[in-house]
Amino acid sequence: MSETKAPSAEQLRDWDRQYHWHPFTQMQEYEPLVIQSAEGCRLIDVDGREFIDGVSSLWCNVHGHRHPKLNAAIREQLDKVAHVTSLGLSNPVVIELAKRLVEITPDGLDYAFFSDSGASAVEVAVKMALQYWQQCENPKPKKKRYISFGQAYHGDTIGMVSLGGVPRFHEIYGPLLFEPIRLPSPATYPLPEGVTKEQLTQHYLGQLEKVLEEHHEEIAALIIEPLVQGAAGMVMQPDGYLSGVRELTKRYDVLMIADEVAVGMGRTGRMFACENEDVHPDLMCIAKGLTGGYLPVSATMASCEIYDAFLGSHGESRTFFHGHTYAGNPLGCAVALASLDLFEEEKTLENLQPKISRLSEHLEQIAGHPHVGDIRQRGFMVGIELVASKSGEDAGGHTPYPWELGIGNQVCRKILEHGVWLRPLGNVIVIMPPLAISMEELDCICKAARDAIHEVTSEIEDSARVDA
Ligand SMILES: *Cc1c(COP(=O)(O)O)cnc(C)c1O
Repeated sequence: MSETKAPSAEQLRDWDRQYHWHPFTQMQEYEPLVIQSAEGCRLIDVDGREFIDGVSSLWCNVHGHRHPKLNAAIREQLDKVAHVTSLGLSNPVVIELAKRLVEITPDGLDYAFFSDSGASAVEVAVKMALQYWQQCENPKPKKKRYISFGQAYHGDTIGMVSLGGVPRFHEIYGPLLFEPIRLPSPATYPLPEGVTKEQLTQHYLGQLEKVLEEHHEEIAALIIEPLVQGAAGMVMQPDGYLSGVRELTKRYDVLMIADEVAVGMGRTGRMFACENEDVHPDLMCIAKGLTGGYLPVSATMASCEIYDAFLGSHGESRTFFHGHTYAGNPLGCAVALASLDLFEEEKTLENLQPKISRLSEHLEQIAGHPHVGDIRQRGFMVGIELVASKSGEDAGGHTPYPWELGIGNQVCRKILEHGVWLRPLGNVIVIMPPLAISMEELDCICKAARDAIHEVTSEIEDSARVDA
């Protein structure tokens, strides 16, 4: 027998720096935090320290970690088969999951196409839209372009970076990208110049209609993160905007792709964000929370009309030529099914409502802080935007903290000392706990955020005073 000794915590941290290149991470400044296990909504590191998971392991955990029923579902499936390709074969759990998704997604979404990440689910929708217009009953082959939004985030593949609109993530890859028609982010903060809050929805819909009027003949699809642009910093859309987009895209014969990767699976308080405005998109992408945050499974839901355009004999080559090796992986599908069962058994969405209200109460208290420029909440998605001063020159009438200061990172490092793990988006502190979090844990997260914001912003003010 080989003598293997488990590496020490210190050794793991060293190796993490030495061998492991982390995504979206400045490795020169990276400080390893190595999680060994988890219990419910708590993460436990290699030194035995506990942290409340305040961002659902990057927006995907739903029912907590190591839920006995989710664990059992994977174990049970493991004893049958771990992987069956979906290219020409099928498996009971992937079939059941497809049926369940058709049942729970908005009416008009009749087929599920599986992939293994959010980015691929949206890529699939984008490719389907283009091919649809070539092959549908009354083809419109000129429809080859897309409408996307400033601040949009749809993943990190080349296609998704093309559609994305977060300059800091996307600008450098310019030479590799195709050009969408890009509309300004339909944000409620800051208000565009000369536009009141009441006029906001009509203002943004007017911009869209103008583009559609001019270009609809060349536009295959519009792609939108319904209600909230997550990675942009929890940027929220005004009420009525999403349903207005649906109306306009219908009127101008443009497909609507709803990227529900972040907002879906209960995040906004409803199972899917589109339900909040009774919107029925042509294509809908689901990922992050689909497996309860356990395994990489994503789905692109498509309308019957789109599906039908791909039917024909082998020789006609109308097939959707796309597929990922691990598409419809049975372990993933089994845990996704178990997660959907839990939504019913544990009344996850009903139980979420009082937690959403509690979160709002906490946020009201934080909002008064002199360095909190804006607080945005939609269900269990929260962004707290920190500003250097609440007077100033930016569009919100504030002075932002300089990016180089890394205020978000500083605050989140401090929050860690209070036993809570959060990950910011620039100057925005994100709170996005598992839906199953307890009231007590929720209180802890909000209190830690409030205290840390106060501590860090005061320290910065003090040191500025010393410098001056
Ligand atoms: C996270 C995210 C994606 C990408 O999902 P991955 O699984 O990381 O590829 C796409 N769209 C939105 C809205 C997201 O938040």
